Amino acid sequence: MRKIVVLSGAGVSAESGIKTFRETGGLWEEYNIEDVATPQAWQKNMELVQRFYNARRKQLLEVEPNPAHLAIAALEEHFDVHVVTQNIDNLHERAGSSKVLHLHGELTKSRSSVDPELIYDINGWEIKMGDLCEKGSQLRPHIVWFGEMVPELENAARLAQTADILIVVGTSLNVYPAASLIHYAPYDAPKFLVDPNELFVDGVTNLTFIKEKAGVGMPELREKLIADWA
Ligand code: NAD
Repeated sequence: MRKIVVLSGAGVSAESGIKTFRETGGLWEEYNIEDVATPQAWQKNMELVQRFYNARRKQLLEVEPNPAHLAIAALEEHFDVHVVTQNIDNLHERAGSSKVLHLHGELTKSRSSVDPELIYDINGWEIKMGDLCEKGSQLRPHIVWFGEMVPELENAARLAQTADILIVVGTSLNVYPAASLIHYAPYDAPKFLVDPNELFVDGVTNLTFIKEKAGVGMPELREKLIADWA
């Protein structure tokens, strides 16, 4: 079975109703990144950070995977598919993808604020102030904030290096180090980029740009991959 590595970003979940990051109307326009998604924000105002992520988690209970998530999951019938996502939602898993690596953490989990190894599933949508880990420290969202290390980066790079086919979908390739992963894929591996907006990608060989929303472009690409490569 050929190995497909899918690198996904906020755009893949846009049609499910979760706002993206940088676009007009995107999530972050309403908030200052520094106020909610940095270690400094956590030090300064834990309640605000918890409220921000609790709201994201609550929304996650109300949305569903879209045709793009489903098309990616269905590729597993023909390929060895590994999803590397910058998304913190769980829509890839809920669509049926079995190998999902979350570069930037997971909304549905909490973690100790003193021991990063202590990670817990969240029941429902809320982490409350006063919810503690077994070492007695406040639980925080299991999210990689701006300015923090990306512990899964090496594993993601290894996957990209061994891809027979690489798909990049719904990411502006603006957030580093995740954006650098496209450059790890083998020189001769076919690469596909699905995004409705023009993106500038430099120094990537064998690249086909599918200028479509993920919900249209991914099902189309799935058919093409099965016809040409399965
Ligand atoms: P980004 O917002 O920087 O870029 C989104 C990309 O998606 C853009 O290139 C845009 O043109 C494209 N896009 C918009 N609608 C689309 C659609 N329907 N189909 C396909 N593409 C579409 O997002 P990023 O590159 O993923 O970086 C964002 C950061 O914010 C990540 O670190 C991520 O963790 C976080 N984030 C996550 C979520 C989520 O979990 N769903 C949502 C917002 C932000």
